[in-house]
Amino acid sequence: MVGLAVAARLARDTPDLVVLERNERHGLETSSRNSEVIHAGIYYPAGTLKARLCVEGNRRLYELCAQHDIPHRRFGKIISAVADHELPHLQALLDRGRANGAPLERLSASAVTQLEPNVRTVGGLWSPSSGVVSAHGLMDYYLHAAREAGAVLQPRTEVVGLERTPDGYRLTVASGADRESFTTERVVNAAGLDSDRVAALAGIDVEAAGYRLHYCKGSYFSVTAAKSRLVSRLVYPVPNPVSLGVHALVDFAGRLRFGPDAEYLPERRQDYRVAESKRPAFAEAVRRLVPAIGEEDLQPDISGIRPKLQGPRDPFRDFVIAEESSRGLPGLVNLIGIDSPGLTSASAIADHVAELLH
Ligand SMILES: Cc1cc2nc3c(=O)[nH]c(=O)nc-3n(C[C@H](O)[C@H](O)[C@H](O)COP(=O)(O)OP(=O)(O)OC[C@H]3O[C@@H](n4cnc5c(N)ncnc54)[C@H](O)[C@@H]3O)c2cc1C
Repeated sequence: MVGLAVAARLARDTPDLVVLERNERHGLETSSRNSEVIHAGIYYPAGTLKARLCVEGNRRLYELCAQHDIPHRRFGKIISAVADHELPHLQALLDRGRANGAPLERLSASAVTQLEPNVRTVGGLWSPSSGVVSAHGLMDYYLHAAREAGAVLQPRTEVVGLERTPDGYRLTVASGADRESFTTERVVNAAGLDSDRVAALAGIDVEAAGYRLHYCKGSYFSVTAAKSRLVSRLVYPVPNPVSLGVHALVDFAGRLRFGPDAEYLPERRQDYRVAESKRPAFAEAVRRLVPAIGEEDLQPDISGIRPKLQGPRDPFRDFVIAEESSRGLPGLVNLIGIDSPGLTSASAIADHVAELLH
């Protein structure tokens, strides 16, 4: 998503722009394994890139969707407190969200019940600018826009070497057993789960730079058709420090699923299986929010892996979006730790990258 959005933005005034993709197609990793939620910008500390680029990205995304018929729904979201001790957290979220420029309203328990009769609540927040978008629809749009402006997508091409030369960079790419090298003036590293490795290829000490990624898996369970009408919009719990909490997601077809949980993986491996053994923990999280949905109503669904800079016990980490002249690497932009709200923010990230390069 982010690489394609950046390509669409830069291709206008960058001849010979090539998007290198290791898989046989674009969008087979994190960008198609997520909640597809258009976030409003509520959760992130004021002044951070996540706050700024999410609020700006939200506005831009709805414009793009309207202009280019990208499937989306702007049906708003409720954050529901389920116990009195969570109410102060709602107030803190309201203050933070408003400071970031996200429209938000306080809801009484009865107002939540009126909107979502099956949701447990002692009070909530209403975020009218939240919605869902088709991630594939959005990626296809960015790819089309990039190609129209002259860019080329080169699949099955993995970056395995990145070396500074007097007038730019020598990139080495692998396609199966074949290797080839070419030179380029500028490089944007939007390699998602491997963005820290690509930065290391350029000679950056990723530990010292604070660029080392943790893999944090998020799994989903879908709800059987018989119970899928119990919720009709996005419903989130009060968040925890690592993730936004297992939430209710309604997609375009009215299908209901819950997720994602947050599981730091011991190894850096893309294992997307969703373990049956997660069912009881999921059922508990779901029942807290929607008591009428039981363990037997849930089925393992997809999962995704967050490329997180924040380790299990670390405080908040912002996106890293850095032009690396200060490390002796001019014209290299690293995008690292682009976890949520990266999908919402993609077009605003692309503008930010363009500013850094100019
Ligand atoms: C469970 C979960 C839920 C989420 N929910 C939301 C949400 O509701 N809303 C939201 O805004 N965000 C959400 N996010 C975050 C969002 O999905 C990501 O921020 C976004 O998809 C990141 O896009 P990307 O292009 O940076 O990464 P990716 O989609 O990972 O793309 C990186 C690409 O680089 C390629 N690549 C990697 N290494 C190399 C290499 N060496 N050579 C060539 N190609 C390479 C990969 O194949 C991949 O295609 C969620 C994430 C997860 C995991």
